[in-house]
Amino acid sequence: MASTRLFFSRGFVNDSVVLSIRKFTIFRTEKKVFIRMFSAQTIGEAPKPEYDLVVIGGGSGGLACAKEASNLGAKVAVLDYVTPTPLGTKWGLGGTCVNVGCIPKKLMHQAALLGESLHDAQAYGWQLQPENIKHQWSALTQAVQNHIKSVNWVTRVDLRDKKVEYINGLGVFKDRYTIQTTTKQGERLLTSKYFLIACGGRPRYPDIPGAVEYGITSDDIFSLKNAPGKTIIIGAGYIGLECAGFLNGLGYDATVMVRSVVLRGFDQQMAGIITESMVQKGIKFLHKCLPDSVEKTPEDRLLVKWHNQQGEQFSDVYDTILFAIGRRALTRELKAEVAGIKLAPDNEKIDAVNEQSNVPHIYAVGDVLYKKPELTPVAIHAGRLLARRLFGGSTLQMDYQNVATTIFTPLEYGCVGLSEEKANEDYGADNIEVYHAYYKPTEFFIPQKSIAHCYLKVVSLREPPQKVLGMHFIGPQAGEVIQGFAAALKSNLTVETLMNTVGIHPTIAEEFTRINVTKRSGKDPNPASCCS
Ligand code: FAD
Repeated sequence: MASTRLFFSRGFVNDSVVLSIRKFTIFRTEKKVFIRMFSAQTIGEAPKPEYDLVVIGGGSGGLACAKEASNLGAKVAVLDYVTPTPLGTKWGLGGTCVNVGCIPKKLMHQAALLGESLHDAQAYGWQLQPENIKHQWSALTQAVQNHIKSVNWVTRVDLRDKKVEYINGLGVFKDRYTIQTTTKQGERLLTSKYFLIACGGRPRYPDIPGAVEYGITSDDIFSLKNAPGKTIIIGAGYIGLECAGFLNGLGYDATVMVRSVVLRGFDQQMAGIITESMVQKGIKFLHKCLPDSVEKTPEDRLLVKWHNQQGEQFSDVYDTILFAIGRRALTRELKAEVAGIKLAPDNEKIDAVNEQSNVPHIYAVGDVLYKKPELTPVAIHAGRLLARRLFGGSTLQMDYQNVATTIFTPLEYGCVGLSEEKANEDYGADNIEVYHAYYKPTEFFIPQKSIAHCYLKVVSLREPPQKVLGMHFIGPQAGEVIQGFAAALKSNLTVETLMNTVGIHPTIAEEFTRINVTKRSGKDPNPASCCS
């Protein structure tokens, strides 16, 4: 007796999904059953994705993840595309940090500090003619842009060496498995096992007349053709303050308009001291004000109108208006919703768990993540760890707690861990001890620089051994001071250990090891002498 059956099966041939139909004839005899296969025919094939990982965004996070994934054997492509600013500014591969963020900002901060040092130098015996000390804006922007272009070039070479394909095109989700992009060579569709969204963000403009037409943002300032002149900076977050700081240091009249508080999210006592130190340098602050409009004057300058909380109207004429009112994630341009990715309703960022979005094969790192620190090293570290988890068998997750940061205002502010307010909120003021001190940097004495704002504090638990929860430092080289303490804090630093640490003399970082006055004691936090 014989009967014929059809079997459908799904399998993998060379990693491709294969659907087959097989025809079997079953012979039955009295004692045995013979099965003979007559035919096997492939009826369909879902192709293997072209890549293991497609990264959308060639900035800090995207590049770090792409390079690490490629090192681990994955086939990787990175898309990076910069939409020009309303002024027409655009830039190369590398993202915000390299082109319009940390790097040009730090270089301009350094330019401003050098100007200050030139003046200090005279007190140390250098014979300079103050009237000959002049700054040339175009020489600075040229030098900064040359450096950036060299970094863009090195980044491209690095990708090529690491066998990461770089695609200079805007990536848009076509569906949750496909990215569509248009390059000079035409349209391309990219399929991948995993996608990483690392598209970062761009500065926002306020919805007032003239803002987009006449305003600039941090995306334009570092390559601005003409010297900025008298500038009003709208916004008192760290980017606004840093821009005001270096513009003032380079000799430009700088005013900061503050909507509510300076440095929201940072320790507010430290924010107040930073503001005072900037005022002392000649930077003006307009508190609790909002801009209304920007118009061009017949002299080609900008008439800026604003109002305060009481509704009083003001206006003044400036050469430049720089908006630093916050940044917007670029998820709209990416059509994240087409891939089914849920976005936070308040700011369109991706609320991922361990960098994984609600669509399991789509991940996100960097500034596009909801409620995570917007910092380059955070994006890089998260990107690298993700690549190791996806392609290297690692299970290590990103730790977003106790990330140190520094604000590069003329007198810098570095911090790690909790602000005093947050520590009080989390643990209760009775359980918190705050050690604080003013200090005198040795190098400030000869040029008689103001020490009024050189201040630091340590926020700890009150109970011995007094685990340190936060460290805050205002002064020169604050980033260099705080970085090492960030590692100590991660290793459960206590006040006891801090006080048992022998300092390096004479440095400003040693002040953390000398700290012994608590706010609760009411004792004077001013230093008695430099060497005792
Ligand atoms: P980004 O570096 O912004 O990279 C995203 C890239 O993706 C961009 O090139 C973008 O054009 C591209 N892109 C977006 N959408 C698409 C798409 N659909 N297709 C293709 N490409 C796309 N951080 C610090 O740690 N220290 C600092 O001192 C510091 N200073 C800063 C100063 C300023 C003025 C600014 C603006 C930022 C600063 N930051 C600083 C923050 C830091 O630059 C960011 O945290 C970091 O760049 C975020 O990296 P990312 O990978 O998330 O995105």
